[in-house]
Amino acid sequence: MSTETDENEVVPADRFECRSCGYIYEPDEGDKKRKIPSGTLFNQLPEDWNCPVCRSDQEQFVNIGPAGTPSGFAENLGYGFGVNAMTPGKKNLLIFGTLLLLFLFLLSFYSSG
Ligand SMILES: [Zn+2]
Repeated sequence: MSTETDENEVVPADRFECRSCGYIYEPDEGDKKRKIPSGTLFNQLPEDWNCPVCRSDQEQFVNIGPAGTPSGFAENLGYGFGVNAMTPGKKNLLIFGTLLLLFLFLLSFYSSG
């Protein structure tokens, strides 16, 4: 009888999601159709392995982190830098400038009529 010990600490393996169809490669499960044994990391897959659903290349896959991590977490970090990058001063200048142009437009409209 062989006794198995849990000396090796299990590191959560990164999962990869296909950007084309949303298929998620689970390293813990592997890919039974292609005879990929469970525990195979994404970067250990054969080069000719592609998405079992839509056959996209491995390049189409993005790292979405280990199981339990919200999908797309890393991408969401990029949000919130658009409009908020504008300083309040610039915003006021933009609003004031727009009102001034509108005022001048109305003034010329009434004076010409
Ligand atoms: Zn796919």
